[in-house]
Amino acid sequence: MRILKIQTLRGPNYWSIRRHKLIVMRLDLENLAETPSNEIPGFYEGLVEALPSLEGHYCSPGCRGGFLMRVREGTMMGHIVEHVALELQELAGMHVGFGRTRETSTSGVYQVVFEYLNEEAGRYAGRAAVRLCQSIVDRGRYPKAELEQDLQDLKDLWRDAALGPSTESIVKEAEKRGIPWMQLGARFLIQLGYGVNQKRMQATMTDNTGILGVELACDKEATKRILASTGVPVPKGTVINFLDDLPEAIEYVGGYPIVIKPLDGNHGRGITIDIQNWEEAEAAYDAARQVSRSIIVERYYKGRDHRVLVVDGKVVAVAERVPAHVVGDGRSTIAELIEETNKDPNRGDGHDKVLTKIELDRTSYQLLERQGYTLDSVLAKDEICYLRATANLSTGGIAVDRTDEIHPENVWLAQRIVKIIGLDIAGIDIVTSDISRPLREVEGVIVEVNAAPGFRMHVAPSQGIPRNVAGAVIDMLFPNEQASRIPILSVTGTNGKTTTTRLLAHIYKQTGKVVGYTTTDGTYIGDYLVEVGDNTGPQSAQLILQDPTVEVAVLETARGGILRSGLAFEAANVGVVLNVAADHLGIGDIDTIDQLAHLKSVVAEAVYPDGYAVLNADDPRVAAIAERTKANIAYFTMNPESELVRNHIQKGGVAAVYENGFLSILKGDWTHRIERAENIPLTMGGRAPFMIANALAASLAAFVQNVSIEQIRAGLNTFRASVSQTPGRMNLFNLGNFHALVDYAHNPHSYEALGSFVRNWTNGDRIGVIGGPGDRRDQDFVALGKLSAEIFDYVIVKEDDDTRGRVRGSAAELIVQGIKQVNPNYEFEVILDETQAINKALDITPENSLVVILPESVNRAIKLIKARGVVKEEVPQQ
Ligand code: ATP
Ligand code: ATP
Ligand code: MG
Ligand code: MG
Repeated sequence: MRILKIQTLRGPNYWSIRRHKLIVMRLDLENLAETPSNEIPGFYEGLVEALPSLEGHYCSPGCRGGFLMRVREGTMMGHIVEHVALELQELAGMHVGFGRTRETSTSGVYQVVFEYLNEEAGRYAGRAAVRLCQSIVDRGRYPKAELEQDLQDLKDLWRDAALGPSTESIVKEAEKRGIPWMQLGARFLIQLGYGVNQKRMQATMTDNTGILGVELACDKEATKRILASTGVPVPKGTVINFLDDLPEAIEYVGGYPIVIKPLDGNHGRGITIDIQNWEEAEAAYDAARQVSRSIIVERYYKGRDHRVLVVDGKVVAVAERVPAHVVGDGRSTIAELIEETNKDPNRGDGHDKVLTKIELDRTSYQLLERQGYTLDSVLAKDEICYLRATANLSTGGIAVDRTDEIHPENVWLAQRIVKIIGLDIAGIDIVTSDISRPLREVEGVIVEVNAAPGFRMHVAPSQGIPRNVAGAVIDMLFPNEQASRIPILSVTGTNGKTTTTRLLAHIYKQTGKVVGYTTTDGTYIGDYLVEVGDNTGPQSAQLILQDPTVEVAVLETARGGILRSGLAFEAANVGVVLNVAADHLGIGDIDTIDQLAHLKSVVAEAVYPDGYAVLNADDPRVAAIAERTKANIAYFTMNPESELVRNHIQKGGVAAVYENGFLSILKGDWTHRIERAENIPLTMGGRAPFMIANALAASLAAFVQNVSIEQIRAGLNTFRASVSQTPGRMNLFNLGNFHALVDYAHNPHSYEALGSFVRNWTNGDRIGVIGGPGDRRDQDFVALGKLSAEIFDYVIVKEDDDTRGRVRGSAAELIVQGIKQVNPNYEFEVILDETQAINKALDITPENSLVVILPESVNRAIKLIKARGVVKEEVPQQ
């Protein structure tokens, strides 16, 4: 077996609209192409031995063991690789289930599709699955050690990619509310929502979090001073920089017991509490010095440690943090109890699990000594031995929810404190013997205020009720279900995507909104070009969706991007499908026009149920997409008699129709006439029917998004397919006594479209300078020849400089064949060189005629024309 290609899909795609995260592996079975699993001796047994848990895969039989039954009876290796790739991920703790395997038109080559949670792990699982299966084919087994290594690698990849627990809780909550999110790939920034409606987060800081508040909270001494000056109880303390000042500081705070901690530490590092004598104080000073230059000396307040979480001015959760400890069972030593406690699968390293493993440090041994123990002591049943002085979860502590117990006065105090410090999300550390009583009464104190507090003690306390604190954050960022998204209008089709996208963006600009749009020529925001390039894939779409100024996204969505990685968004508000015609067939395992239609239908299917699929009623394959989407349907048609559209309107649907020379919207009993085609420059005075169709599609897409008829009209009237706006798209030049048209039509369907315009040129002769990119199929060239003979009075056949692998002259020959099929006596000539061909045409063109040039290089063609003295680049009005 050989892996030919691995692709990673990240959005709605050809295989599934709902499952976005898929690996597509193109797999050549090579010598296994003709051999189903039952014909490979020992394969079934070897597979079951390596992965007994495959028993759990149902597969087509629909019951436990279903898949293994298929393996025993005989199934192709691609299918087995799919299941193994899924199972490897499953065994590494990633729950995935979706898979598909299809043979391509190249026999023995399969597309193996399976779900992933983490991209890298998904690709790894695919490669490992092939390795595993090949090994069983060759040797009857897959070594246990290798399998273990694979699983370990997969687990590592999964763990490394995991978001922190706080971030994770927030994005989960966002997902639950249909708020899109993405990682911005820098500084762990997370974007929630799109465009102008986006909010950003990093851990538990948001773009509402003020830098002043954060800086203040990070300076414990300044925080205390400000709080003290507003009457908030804080530990009596002072800051020193030299050991010499320590005795005086101890005296100042009222003598032992004291606390020593670094001025700007966190996670309990370098802190020693309950210091009883000079010897301990000196050691504590040294420890704190490791973390910070300046040292806080404080009075020690006996009590329990509480974390009060305040979000958006309200207390949303309270947790008591209990320092790392073990509970005796009357048999085990403390060391054994620690080991046992750390076996808890909820305990991990650092912050990656709900709890952290207990590790002993300097203070742990002090504590043990004070309690009269060593690690070898055996604790009586239920006796508690504390192992850390401070209660931070990151030093092995646990959390107990106390949200329902906090006294209202303490709530008031906490809420007042965050206002004083100036934080939208804050964790307040309170030491008090009883949180259900006012701090005043029990001598409780505020130890510190934390910016970016961790959520894990609240969302997953060891005891008590988990609190949905992430929900409070989302409520703050998107109050009253405020919009998090921006309208997305996605445009696909074989021809006319760029034109329609530009026109739609232009129409939308009439509403005064900032429109971000992507096309084959580049990415634009408002009136400005952001980036030149063929930007019709998901990355360009992401650029628009990430831009904080964009209010509406209009996205040309081409076949290539959908195939390569799926859409950039879960769903659009409007998905436009213009047409589906033979183009690019045979590329990317899309071999038939129906497969192509299926691929393009992704754009209409990935639409919100209250959104619209805008479909071409005149193209049967496009009209049929209506069956596949859950969105509302809006049709456009050039045919006012269209049965389909009439029925649709009768049932209350909406449509755009070309009727009596007008572009009109039909809705209910009403016909809203937008504009006469001849007044719309893009339609070349109404003579380019396909441009009328594009204009109908754009108008309809805008209309279903509540853009007014007046604004649509204004957009249509002012949009020009000028050379500068749309080079190579129906660029018409007036050369005084004749006209020249440059267009980049490059497939039979667009030739047809062009033909419909040329036929409408009745002023004089019609001359064609024709040819096409060499990577098209033979029959496409023949079709071009035929069509040319039908629409032109005279034809010059040329070829591209870059023949894209064809023998020079062979494309021209095919075109000539086509011409002769229509009329054996047709007059034409062949000039392979494009420049010569164009010049010849411009030389011989009679008065009032039209030269149509389908160039390889649009720029060169335009230069040659301009050299003849263009009267003006124009859009003819009738
Ligand atoms: P984190 O950032 O994880 O909250 P930290 O390193 O910022 O921890 P503090 O919050 O200042 O450190 O102190 C850690 C813990 O030590 C407190 O939650 C409290 O349990 C205890 N502690 C700190 N100062 C005192 C004090 N003056 N009296 C009693 N206990 C204290
Ligand atoms: P590409 O796949 O190259 O990005 P596109 O779909 O973006 O193409 P446009 O750039 O808008 O299409 O138009 C390219 C050419 O296709 C036009 O110059 C014209 O010849 C033809 N064309 C445009 N609209 C249509 C249509 N609705 N039907 C058929 N042909 C069209
Ligand atoms: Mg703290
Ligand atoms: Mg395009």
